[in-house]
Amino acid sequence: MDFNNTKIAFQDKTEGDLRRAKFLFNSIRQNWLVMTGKVALGIAQKVHFPIGWAIKPTLYRHFVGGETIAQCEQVVEKLAKSKVQSILDYSVEGTSTEQGINNAFEETLRTIDNAATNANIPFAVFKPTAMIDTRILKKISFKESVSDEEQEQYKAFAQRIDIMAQKAFDSNVRLLIDAEDYWFQQAIDDVVEEMMLKYNKERVVVFNTLQMYRTDRLEYLKNLIAKARTSGFFVGVKFVRGAYMEKERARAEQEGYPSPINATKDDTDKMYNDALRISMEHIDILNVFNGTHNEESNLLLAQIIEDKKLAKNDARVYFSQLYGMSDHISYNLAEAGYNVAKYIPYGPVKHVAPYLIRRAEENTSVAGQTGRELSLILKEQNRRKTENQ
Ligand SMILES: Cc1cc2nc3c(=O)[nH]c(=O)nc-3n(C[C@H](O)[C@H](O)[C@H](O)COP(=O)(O)OP(=O)(O)OC[C@H]3O[C@@H](n4cnc5c(N)ncnc54)[C@H](O)[C@@H]3O)c2cc1C
Repeated sequence: MDFNNTKIAFQDKTEGDLRRAKFLFNSIRQNWLVMTGKVALGIAQKVHFPIGWAIKPTLYRHFVGGETIAQCEQVVEKLAKSKVQSILDYSVEGTSTEQGINNAFEETLRTIDNAATNANIPFAVFKPTAMIDTRILKKISFKESVSDEEQEQYKAFAQRIDIMAQKAFDSNVRLLIDAEDYWFQQAIDDVVEEMMLKYNKERVVVFNTLQMYRTDRLEYLKNLIAKARTSGFFVGVKFVRGAYMEKERARAEQEGYPSPINATKDDTDKMYNDALRISMEHIDILNVFNGTHNEESNLLLAQIIEDKKLAKNDARVYFSQLYGMSDHISYNLAEAGYNVAKYIPYGPVKHVAPYLIRRAEENTSVAGQTGRELSLILKEQNRRKTENQ
């Protein structure tokens, strides 16, 4: 596996695409610019100042598939030409009104229907916090007392997930459930496990997400596998390192509970890779979804597939990166014959702003990631120049 093959990595990018991506990553590399942009965006949203003109041709165009499912179609087809599949991710965040919840629920059902009719879209996905007022998730997770009304809302949350899982089951689509803040997760895990027990009897339909920056997730994985063996269900796990480290640490300190996050990046890396190894030992009852831009973790999984003499495109194992990031990993893995699906966020410009801010921040704070993107773009630009001479 050579992730540095930029000819494959950027096979569907024009010169203009490369120039724009270079400008974008150069900009978000500068911390002050991202911080200023974040503040400006926050103010613009509060006073309902239109922000689309600034974001749409830049961040949005690079990281987002479009405003609607139909608008993402072109991106899905383009990726498919390079053997890369897609997962449409409705990325509207922070709307816990009744209308916002219904909207997210109905939209997710549409993504399942859409995936059912498109062979290039093997999964659907949703954010559980879009399906309920998150204050209830926190209360349930921390075993605080809840009113009858809140208990009813939690029940309605479980019912929504049940309806989505049933639809996914009937449509032969696999359903990924994202992970978010630590203090909502227990209430989510409880429902997701119920869904696995109900819908994963013969194959994996429902996937939970494990954030391996959490100190307790390796143990959780082992317990889940043990439960699956005794109760007779299949396990679907999407692995990620976790996107909210700073927020989690600050909150734990503020609220006075031990930080749920590993002390060092090495600890997270080790847990992540151990989780892959353990999961692949149980591939007879488990599906692995490897959601990472980390080269080592991607190489490790490819190596285990080889060691176990599985087919590269064994349907139980998927690699995934976010749209607009780490194409060198996605395209080279796909070219080599592995299953790869890009997460493609979509939604109206102003509602996907929190997602975009996270991507911009991640690309300033994740050491080396932006540098890596830039050096690969430069390498490809030089390669094309030499080829044309
Ligand atoms: C397809 C896909 C789906 C995703 N879905 C989710 C999701 O549902 N929920 C979610 O939370 N995130 C999700 N993410 C984001 C993910 O959690 C990471 O933030 C992101 O991918 C960066 O991690 P990495 O493995 O790609 O890369 P790397 O650069 O190797 O790792 C960076 C990550 O390591 C961890 N880390 C960094 N420094 C330290 C430290 N000092 N101590 C401990 N840990 C540290 C953090 O998690 C950080 O994000 C998803 C990512 C992908 C690609």
